[in-house]
Amino acid sequence: MMAILIDGKQTAADIRAGLKQDIASLVNECGKKPCLAVVLIGDNPASQVYVRNKVAACAELGIESREVLRDASITEDELLSILAALNTDPAVNGILVQLPLPKHIDEKKVLYSMDPAKDVDGFHPFNIGRMMIGDTDVFLPCTPFGCQELISRVMPDTAGKHLVVVGRSNIVGKPMANMMVQKNRNANCIVTICHTAAPDLSVYTRQADILVAACGVPRFITAPMVKDGVVVIDVGMNRIDDVANPGKTRLVGDVDFDAVKDKALAITPVPGGVGPMTIAMLMKNTVRAFRIQNGM
Ligand code: NAP
Repeated sequence: MMAILIDGKQTAADIRAGLKQDIASLVNECGKKPCLAVVLIGDNPASQVYVRNKVAACAELGIESREVLRDASITEDELLSILAALNTDPAVNGILVQLPLPKHIDEKKVLYSMDPAKDVDGFHPFNIGRMMIGDTDVFLPCTPFGCQELISRVMPDTAGKHLVVVGRSNIVGKPMANMMVQKNRNANCIVTICHTAAPDLSVYTRQADILVAACGVPRFITAPMVKDGVVVIDVGMNRIDDVANPGKTRLVGDVDFDAVKDKALAITPVPGGVGPMTIAMLMKNTVRAFRIQNGM
C-alpha cells in the first residue's frame, strides 16, 4: 500500500495564505496590524532559529513582530517585569516566550505571569484548563493544534477512532490527547497516552487508527509497531549524524518513515510535516488574539 503523504509544508502555506488575506482586511477595517512579541533569552542556536522563523512568518503575513532579546544573565525579576509591560501594552496582541529558559529562571513562573488573553502559544494553565473542560474559544497549543489540522485533512471524521499518543509532555502529548478526546471539536476519539512506563509499547501502538509520535527518540516507531491503514503524525524533530555526509547532521522524526509508510494510510514526513504547521498555528492564534482584543 502506498501511503498518502500528509504535506505539512503545503497545508501550512495554505493556512498562511488565508491568514494573509484576513490580516489585510483586518488592517483595512481598523487601521492597525496584529503584533506578536517574541521574547528570546540567551543565545541557544536552536532557539535563535525558531525565533527567526517566527519573525519571518510574521513579516510574510503582515503581522508586526517585536523581538525582545536579552542576555542569559537576565534575572527572573527582570524577565517578569518585561512580561508585565508586554501584558499591559495595548499594541501587543500576542506574547511568546521561547523555551527553554536559562536554568536560574523558573519557566512556570514566567509562563504563568503571562496574560492568558495574549498567550498565543497556548501554554498558560488557564487556557490549558479551559481546553480540558471543552471550551472552544481558547488558544490551543500550536503543535498539537497543527497535528489536529493535519489529521482532519486525511480523516475528516475521527469520531470513535482510536488515537494513540506516544509521549506525555505538557506541550505536545497531553494537550494532543486532550484535544482529540473532546466531544465538541474535530475529535471525539478514543484516546490512549503512552510513555516510558509502558512495559510493551507496541501493545498500544498496534491498536492505533491514528498514531501521534511525540517521544523525541529517532525512528522509534517501527513497522511492526503499527497496524495496516494507520494515520501517522510524526512530531519528532531529532538531529542525527548524516552517514552520507560525514560531519553533518540531518533531521529525522520519531517514526521509521521508510518502513512505516508501506503500512500506513497516511503519514507526515520529517521535515515538512508537523514542523511548518506549528508556526502556521501560532500565526492563527495571534490573529485570533488581535480580533478578540479589538472586538472584531
Ligand atoms: P519531551 O518533553 O522530551 O517528552 C517526551 C515524551 O516521550 C515523554 O512523555 C516520555 O515519557 C516519552 N518517551 C520518551 N521515550 C520513550 C520511550 N522509549 N517509550 C515511551 N515513551 C517515551 O518531548 P516533547 O517536547 O513532547 O517533544 C517530543 C518530540 O517532538 C521531540 O523530538 C521534539 O523535538 C519534537 N517537537 C516538535 C515540534 C514541532 O513543531 N514539530 C514541537 C515540539 C516538539 P516519560 O514522560 O515517561 O519520560
